[in-house]
Amino acid sequence: MILGSVFALYIPVSEGVQEWIILPGDVFIALLKMVIVPLVLSSVILGIAAAGSLDKLESMGVRLVPYFVLTTAVAITIGMSVASLVEPGKAIATDTEALQAPTSETLNDLSIPDRIMNIIPVNPLEAQLNKNMLQLVILGVIVGIALIVIQTKPAKTFRDICEFTQDACMMVVGLAMWMAPVAVFSLMVKAIGDMGAEALSGMGLYMACVLGGLACMFLVYLLIATFVAGRNPVTFLADIRAAQMVAFSTSSSAATMPVSLSVAEENLKTHEDVRGFVIPLGATINMDGTALYQATAALFLCQVYGIDLSMSETVLLLLTTIGASIGTPAMPGVGLIVLATILGSIGVPPAGIGLILGVDRLLDMCRTTINVTGDLTATAVMQRWMHPPKKNKST
Ligand code: ASP
Repeated sequence: MILGSVFALYIPVSEGVQEWIILPGDVFIALLKMVIVPLVLSSVILGIAAAGSLDKLESMGVRLVPYFVLTTAVAITIGMSVASLVEPGKAIATDTEALQAPTSETLNDLSIPDRIMNIIPVNPLEAQLNKNMLQLVILGVIVGIALIVIQTKPAKTFRDICEFTQDACMMVVGLAMWMAPVAVFSLMVKAIGDMGAEALSGMGLYMACVLGGLACMFLVYLLIATFVAGRNPVTFLADIRAAQMVAFSTSSSAATMPVSLSVAEENLKTHEDVRGFVIPLGATINMDGTALYQATAALFLCQVYGIDLSMSETVLLLLTTIGASIGTPAMPGVGLIVLATILGSIGVPPAGIGLILGVDRLLDMCRTTINVTGDLTATAVMQRWMHPPKKNKST
């Protein structure tokens, strides 16, 4: 990232050479965009199907889903508030007249009922073509439920296909990640070359915004653990530390899942039905750290490209980000890929991702830690709701 920035700032090259230098970055983004739809769909379908039975899905779902949506909305609100107050993108925006992006036409002309109707995937193929995240999540939920209800051989085959799709997509993501160092260089040359030196100081401010927002969310979890789940916050933190450390070092909620399950069993002393449902589902659809990051990054890039969001666009950004974070698979770096879809819906060119890609790794480690903390907090809350302390005493 630093190399790319220095290169862009100090080494003049012809347009022809520049085209070749930015090619790896473009290939990188193209590879990631290629897998967004199948990756999100298969991830949501498998997450819902993991519940196993409809009764279980229903009894836990009616409590858990509103809880997940609420905490995700809180995370996004924190992210948006910090980004709006600090305005990290403004430091860069002053130099980007040439980069003014066309403002979004897609969101402006729709009434609220139209927008509500818009989240129903009337034409599933169109939802995939338009990379409409909310529609894709709803489609995934319906298919996931169908997999639970229809216990036939073809259903099993379809589930296997979903698993294969997810694995194949992750293989492509792995390939893209393999070329990430070159892509980061290339994208930084492009982004910084276009934007000037202020971009770097803006990145520091942007990172501070994301990290500050994540720290606020961490405090929210401690409050929830204390007042809703009835845990001692200090003990709770000590109990979940092992999972947090694995999350931080792997940047993957999915890879951390086995540790989260053992932490939930041995340290948090939760029941099997609770942890067996909440942890896998949470790892798949409950990503508050990712949501906070995506909202902050989206607003940051809006500021960079000089896009002003109206009130209704901001609300739609909130809803899209909830959907996007639900649809983000629990793998390293994928939050950034799914962000491309959010950016498209608010009129930010996907190339803006080049600017934030270079600093994504550290932010990914931190947001994954928050994601896993959120899942374990939810497990503690559900334990209290599904098995209140009185019942525990008699067992
Ligand atoms: N790495 C995150 C996770 O696995 C997802 C992301 O935000 O990229 O939880």
